[in-house]
Amino acid sequence: MKVVLEHLTKKFPNRNKKIKEDVIAVNDFNFEIPDGKLIGLLGPSGCGKSTMLNLISGLETPTEGKIFFGEDDVTKLPPENRGIGLVFQNYALYPHLTVEKNIMFPLENLKGDKKLTKEEMKKKALETAKLVQIDAYMERKPAELSGGQQQRVAIARALVKLPKVLLLDEPLSNLDARLRLQTREEIRRIQRETKITTIFVTHDQEEAMSISDMIVVMKDGLFQQMGKPQEVYNEPVNLFVAKFLGTPPINVFKAKIKKEKLYIGEAEICDAKNLSDRDVFAGIRPEGVILNPKGRLTCKLDRVEVMGRDTSVVCTNDHATNDILRFIIPAENKIDEDDKTVSFDIKPSKLHVFDAKTEEVIKL
Ligand code: ADP
Ligand code: MG
Repeated sequence: MKVVLEHLTKKFPNRNKKIKEDVIAVNDFNFEIPDGKLIGLLGPSGCGKSTMLNLISGLETPTEGKIFFGEDDVTKLPPENRGIGLVFQNYALYPHLTVEKNIMFPLENLKGDKKLTKEEMKKKALETAKLVQIDAYMERKPAELSGGQQQRVAIARALVKLPKVLLLDEPLSNLDARLRLQTREEIRRIQRETKITTIFVTHDQEEAMSISDMIVVMKDGLFQQMGKPQEVYNEPVNLFVAKFLGTPPINVFKAKIKKEKLYIGEAEICDAKNLSDRDVFAGIRPEGVILNPKGRLTCKLDRVEVMGRDTSVVCTNDHATNDILRFIIPAENKIDEDDKTVSFDIKPSKLHVFDAKTEEVIKL
């Protein structure tokens, strides 16, 4: 089931009563989520991700705009009639019910010709429990399960009615690092198996990049960019997106275009054909340099960290906006830690230039 958002907007009265203006939690969103895909909705805390999910689920009513599931306008439909499954950060299971009863719960109040017998409900609950690999614990209560297992039960409960759209709001945030990794792989597998259109909300770029078919990046209620994770990483449309994606983060320099050349300080970095003089930001991905004593970019060497396959060169530069810069080079490249400076060539595909005022990308 594809999901289409048209001019979707949600305003809230400001919680700070002294401020008259509304908070625009979701600001004029237009996009189409293709059928059967897993979309990562990504942005910093407070940017409107949960509000967006609540609008799609029907828990919130939009101030403006429309939501379509397939060709159907569902904007005014109550949540229970939308055919959605919801999973939240705090698993919100019924503590007094067994795993089986928790998973069966959404089936209990089906009406009319959809009404199921106890046996049918038990069968469906077991099938779904198998899908999320929790079927060995059907008789346990939530308190007798680990966080990861509880979250699987919550996912099973969201899936048992075979929703048209599955909505997950930071489902892994309460899990420790190892379980987080494992559970995100599980979610990916379950999504592939069921092919249910899924929206996965997270503030963790690595999480979104690793499991999503497509990511949507938002900031302050505003759409920034949508695309395959690697495309967005390779072609960020603005400085915010460039900085938000990638670990270690992109290295950003205050730079200038002058006489059709790009400069960082006095260092001429590359051509900037047909571009007028202006201030810019130059972003270089950590993997975007090649060690060269005669390279155009010179930084003060702080330290070198060898990490198996790679070497991380930690350095500084007076023109950088990052306090420390981090470049990743192959471990075979030897650097003398006693050197005061280190110089690099820059790989053109890893260099991104943004207008200093608008912070929009400039193509060199
Ligand atoms: P996220 O999930 O990305 O952290 P939210 O969607 O929860 O962000 O919130 C987006 C913005 O809307 C925030 O500024 C938040 O304070 C505000 N907001 C969310 N819900 C309400 C509400 N019920 N009343 C007032 N403001 C709200
Ligand atoms: Mg949220």
